[in-house]
Amino acid sequence: MFDSGASFETLPTTGSEFFERQSSPAVTAVRQRTLKSAISCTGTGLHSGARITMTLRPAEPDTGIFFRRIDIAGGGALIPAHWASVSDTRLNTCVTDAAGIKVHTIEHLMAALAGMSIDNAVIDINGPEVPVMDGSAAPFVFLVECAGVVEQAAPRRAIKVLKRVVVEEGDKLAMLMPAPCFSVNVEIDFANPLIGRQDCWLTMTGQSFKSEISRARTFGFEHEVAALRAAGLAKGGSLDNAVVIASDGNRIVNDEGLRYEDEFVRHKLLDAVGDLYLAGAPLLAHFRGVRTGHGLNNRLLATLFADRSAWTTVTLDSRQARIPAVFPPSRRLPAAAIA
Ligand SMILES: [Zn+2]
Repeated sequence: MFDSGASFETLPTTGSEFFERQSSPAVTAVRQRTLKSAISCTGTGLHSGARITMTLRPAEPDTGIFFRRIDIAGGGALIPAHWASVSDTRLNTCVTDAAGIKVHTIEHLMAALAGMSIDNAVIDINGPEVPVMDGSAAPFVFLVECAGVVEQAAPRRAIKVLKRVVVEEGDKLAMLMPAPCFSVNVEIDFANPLIGRQDCWLTMTGQSFKSEISRARTFGFEHEVAALRAAGLAKGGSLDNAVVIASDGNRIVNDEGLRYEDEFVRHKLLDAVGDLYLAGAPLLAHFRGVRTGHGLNNRLLATLFADRSAWTTVTLDSRQARIPAVFPPSRRLPAAAIA
């Protein structure tokens, strides 16, 4: 069923082999990172349509990422950006605290924090949803760059995947397998001539995420908008924050067209990077997703952490940061390849 040509067995095992072939410069510790200063933005919630102000704030080492709903009485509600806090994965990833206080649509912000290697931050927000901005992670990358980043005294830790973990749902699949750095491969398959079947690889470095993935916007079909709004979703959606495919299926409605030829699969990869950062630390693993989405990505983390023999915590050093982007560039497959 998953006949992409990149079978599990033929996936590059490049990391460890690469190390062995290289000269070995001094290994140095990687430190945790946070923002140098607080920074704010205001925008619209994609699904709620609410006008929301969000402030990214520095946090102490070993804090992790937290949302703080400052509009909730009594000092605000703290909600960890953690896979176990996820309560809704219907067209977004939503986290909830024990009292049921929610923050929706966190995935693009989480992807930016993962891409910028931010370990510790408190995100103040005065409403139920992260602003969608332009529908990509680029505005959040820009915010982090404007605030600046500082290294902290504590070493950076990662979750090292020790064995293959797979979840499937019909023709959808999400998988983690051992790897010496974090790399991501996502494949999508739409019966639409503008999308078709697309496949994208990324080995995670700050620069690769920013240049190859961060600008990819969320997307939707024109004919689905009314149904989404009737279901209480996409109330804030517009051509300013999503790529919209015309009802005839053959045209991008946005005047400016696409930012990347395969923007659709790059956005799905962006979503996966954000969802997987809810592990609570960067992963040392290769992720493969086939037609995956927020729900399956969350189930994958739940399955990983349910098996104590499938992962361990390690301290990162400069070797993980030196692995180059050796995986094939993303490619667009012909629509005729649709099964
Ligand atoms: Zn998305």
